Amino acid sequence: MPSSSQNATDAEILAAARMILEAHYVIALTGAGLSVESGIPPFRGPGGLWTKYGEPPMNGYQIFLADPKKAWEDRIRRQNDELWGPLKVAKPNAGHTALAELEEMGLLRFLITQNVDDLHRQAGHSALAEIHGNWKLIRCIECGRRFRGEDIRLEVLPPTCPRCEGLLKGDTVAFGEPIPPDVLEQCVEHSARADLVIVAGTSATVYPAAGFALEVKQRGGKLIEANLYESEITRACDISLRGATGEVLPRLTAAISDLRKARLS
Ligand SMILES: [Zn+2]
Repeated sequence: MPSSSQNATDAEILAAARMILEAHYVIALTGAGLSVESGIPPFRGPGGLWTKYGEPPMNGYQIFLADPKKAWEDRIRRQNDELWGPLKVAKPNAGHTALAELEEMGLLRFLITQNVDDLHRQAGHSALAEIHGNWKLIRCIECGRRFRGEDIRLEVLPPTCPRCEGLLKGDTVAFGEPIPPDVLEQCVEHSARADLVIVAGTSATVYPAAGFALEVKQRGGKLIEANLYESEITRACDISLRGATGEVLPRLTAAISDLRKARLS
């Protein structure tokens, strides 16, 4: 663990706050770091579920399509395992709340998350795209409509769409499955307008999510990173705020709020 001396200084926080206030269209890209701070184990890296149990098959979507009944039976059996258990009890942390506050202040226009845990929504965030889906939702692979898990009957497997009778699948995007087009479209639209991206809790190495941040940078926009560790995206960032997102993001939101009050007075 990095020592506290490596954490973002007040001067760095203030510089980031100023940069955000000067930007015209701010979006955020978030990843596993935020979830980990809410007690959800990561997939990759030390202690990661895939590190422990092996990576899931790279053709998970094709396996689902080949035998959706069996895939649904497996899904129901897994409801209490090491991933699903923490998801059920996880609560948003101070990092999620800080980002929701930035949205509430009218400064954060859109959030792209790679997390499936629903915690940004639970924190009150409304303009967001869950690029890898949401574990609480079920999606029709024909018409793309999403349903809450509790609204879908599972007596007959696989369940079908109440609207179009298409095949239903968990909303979380499997390996080999295309990112749902509605989500991808929103990400493209908002990142095309953005001139600043807050990259929080992610090394931004997984595509297409990483591409949205880098594209903004290539167009002359700014990147502000909030992450416990240095990562591959650090070099591309204008300001790196080192530290837990649950610590750094609330400091950033508070600094922005103070600057705004000072300007108004
Ligand atoms: Zn449908």
